[in-house]
Amino acid sequence: MKHILCHYCKKEIKDRDELVTASNWFRLRPFHYVCFQKKESETSLSIKSWKPVNGTTGNISAALMLLLALWMLFTDSLGAVGDLIGIIAIYPVGLRLLSLMFIELTLPKISPDKTR
Ligand SMILES: [Zn+2]
Repeated sequence: MKHILCHYCKKEIKDRDELVTASNWFRLRPFHYVCFQKKESETSLSIKSWKPVNGTTGNISAALMLLLALWMLFTDSLGAVGDLIGIIAIYPVGLRLLSLMFIELTLPKISPDKTR
């Protein structure tokens, strides 16, 4: 089984309960929930901050972006500018799917260690 290592402390992430996947431009990295908060407080003043991709907020924004992308790409709203907005909007949706496929689904929902 593939091990998911936290980008901050380099230790293994055992389940989806403690996982935060975050994106920073074109990078997608897994973090522990606590490590992500530490990381966030360190970089809050910087534009290079990491944005969480999973969780409720990530799901809602990915869904909204998908709607926006479909609307812009499949209608004539705003013409060529609309197509461009659609392509930009599809990017966070792609990230959400990548996070789901390559990180979240490789982890158990709750680590077996915790149920004991
Ligand atoms: Zn960590």
